Amino acid sequence: LGLPEVPAHIPLRRHSRRIDVGRVPVGDGAPISVQTMTTTPTADVDATLRQIAEVTAAGCDIVRVAVPSRDDADALPAITSRSPIPVVADIHFQPRYVFQAIDAGCAAVRVNPGNIRKFDDKVREIAVAAGAAGVPIRIGVNAGSLDPRVLDRHGGHANPEALVESALWECSLFEEHGFRDLKIAVKHHDPRTVIAAYRLLAARCDYPLHLGVTEAGPSLQGSIKSAVAFGILLAEGIGDTIRVSLSAPPVEQVKAGCHILQSLGLRPRRLEIVSCPGCGRLQVDIHRLARRVEAAFEGFPIPLRVAVMGCVVNGPGESREADIGVSSGNGKGQIFVRGEVVKTVPESRIVEALLEEALNLASTVSPP
Ligand code: SF4
Repeated sequence: LGLPEVPAHIPLRRHSRRIDVGRVPVGDGAPISVQTMTTTPTADVDATLRQIAEVTAAGCDIVRVAVPSRDDADALPAITSRSPIPVVADIHFQPRYVFQAIDAGCAAVRVNPGNIRKFDDKVREIAVAAGAAGVPIRIGVNAGSLDPRVLDRHGGHANPEALVESALWECSLFEEHGFRDLKIAVKHHDPRTVIAAYRLLAARCDYPLHLGVTEAGPSLQGSIKSAVAFGILLAEGIGDTIRVSLSAPPVEQVKAGCHILQSLGLRPRRLEIVSCPGCGRLQVDIHRLARRVEAAFEGFPIPLRVAVMGCVVNGPGESREADIGVSSGNGKGQIFVRGEVVKTVPESRIVEALLEEALNLASTVSPP
């Protein structure tokens, strides 16, 4: 009573320009893309391509590779030509690698012109080369690498105003040369600063925004910090592409990003496990069972909601609502398909029986 109504849909997305990162549009209402960054040495082409294949299978739309050395820059053509998703080159101080990345077919480059403007005219040359090749540029401002003069103006704090001022100044260095194919990230480790910074940025420019909580931490902490910040911003229509930064393998970052978008209805959910937390009524090891079901259904060919319930109190209700479900108890599992009990199996056969029924279901909705 008296609670605000929860909107069923995200309100209108913030209006932004659109850029094309290879075949992936970003901004102007395009589907919100998920990104990550490889952790292999980029010069190790095979290892990098293996990791790219893995993150692509997990739902990654755009992948970034670090280019700190000549060997890494030299490896870019072999990577871009075989990557199934657009590759973004992440470059910090060496303008020559930016030109190499553009020539190598990178779909975008992350570079901050503030880092390279000491090299005569290089910002203009990059603007010309990127403009001619149709390669957008991402400007990324991190709390840890803010220009000392900006920090001074803000009392030494990387606050939202400092992050936004720095990002817009970086943009202006390209705008001077008529280049506006930009997207921006303003990252901080504190979700509250991230939320305030992106709100400010969203109001002050029309560039597409790349959301990120930087140095978010290990998997659980980092995923929650990112989900809180992204959830609030995305629910306000702010954000065009996301990267969950975790001290965990890139594939985990991609899964977390996909879950965030799916939770807000911004990306179709392929597999949803509805499993109970367990309580004193529990008659099965529900945590282990839920993990086994999740592993068994990973990559299942049709979208599915699978209920895994630990007793007969809420079990039948949830199982009836799902495509496939099990209500466990007394060493057995009652298997549900689209609301009907189809069989009862011993506990040891629950996962197998769920998979069997799911495959039967899949055969009725997809070509054999
Ligand atoms: Fe407890 Fe049963 Fe609910 Fe699971 S389904 S939380 S075991 S009451």
